[in-house]
Amino acid sequence: MELAIRNVRKEFERFAALHDVSLDIRSGELIALLGPSGSGKTTLLRLIAGLDFPTEGAILFGDEDASFKSVQERNVGFVFQHYALFRHMTVAENIGFGLKVRPAATRPSKAEIRRRASELLDLVQLSGLENRYPNQLSGGQRQRVALARALAIEPRVLLLDEPFGALDAQVRRELRRWLREIHDRTGHTTVFVTHDQEEALELADRVVVMSQGRIEQVGTADEVYDTPNSPFVYSFIGESSSLSVRIENGQIWLDDRATGLLAEGAPNGKAALYFRPHDVELLEGGAGIVGTVVASRRVAGTKRVELQIGGAQHRVEIEVPATHSAASAGRIAFRPTRWRLFSDAGPIPYQAAPAPSVAYAPAPRLQVVAS
Ligand code: ADP
Ligand code: MG
Repeated sequence: MELAIRNVRKEFERFAALHDVSLDIRSGELIALLGPSGSGKTTLLRLIAGLDFPTEGAILFGDEDASFKSVQERNVGFVFQHYALFRHMTVAENIGFGLKVRPAATRPSKAEIRRRASELLDLVQLSGLENRYPNQLSGGQRQRVALARALAIEPRVLLLDEPFGALDAQVRRELRRWLREIHDRTGHTTVFVTHDQEEALELADRVVVMSQGRIEQVGTADEVYDTPNSPFVYSFIGESSSLSVRIENGQIWLDDRATGLLAEGAPNGKAALYFRPHDVELLEGGAGIVGTVVASRRVAGTKRVELQIGGAQHRVEIEVPATHSAASAGRIAFRPTRWRLFSDAGPIPYQAAPAPSVAYAPAPRLQVVAS
């Protein structure tokens, strides 16, 4: 089932929890809504489910306007972090519940419900536990039962709101892989909410990054990680460093020094230069950006160095080889190899050109940003 969210706004009292959100979800896709707490993920999921309704805009299921249809009419399955199983029902009864409460005309027979429950238990790898009660299961097993229950109604869309949020890290990772496998087998269009970037990047076909009731970026894990299109995405996903710079005639300046980075076509004025700590090359001979080592720490196979550049307002982190001496108060010159410029109005369009003087520099990536 294909979903389209069209210019949706959602207000509570007069507070807007979602502003003009639009998103197309492809049939069979596993999409993650990723953002900090309060960014509007659950609100958007509840609107898709039919648990709440938009103030403006529309939600389409295929070609059908579902904006004001009920949960039952939409036929969605959901699993929430705290959407507990029915405690007085066995595992099999929990799974069959959604079918048992259907009106007589569409309700399968008892035997058919039992058969379906047992098939689903097999799918979620809990065969043999059908007669247990929820309090006789681990947290991970309970969430797997919850997923089987959501799947039992043969939903058109599966909605998961931080389903593994209450579980410990190890179990979370296992269930994440397991969910991906189940998804690949059943092919349900699935919307998965999480505030955990690792979970989103590993699990989803595409990630929707949300902040303050808006969509900041939609893309594959590689796209949102490698080409963040806002300072928010740079800082929320992975690690980033930023510097306040000035653009003059296509050259990027830091205080009174040229950085050697060129941004052809960028308008003159102030900008923020963003890069990942590992997307840098070290330079010799005083070219590039020069900083004084303030601190350094070992991170797995590499070393992270904090540099102070010029005045106290410039502090960045860069990654250097673990063997680098990086002594405190020592100086290091570097240049970002992959970077982006932003103004208050958004990404600054420019074309990165090769820096002139350095023969051994790797070919810079072409950074063409639509304005
Ligand atoms: P998330 O799931 O990303 O943590 P939510 O969608 O739950 O965020 O909430 C987004 C914003 O909307 C928050 O500021 C929250 O306080 C507000 N909000 C959510 N539900 C309600 C409600 N029923 N009444 C008033 N405000 C709400
Ligand atoms: Mg939430």
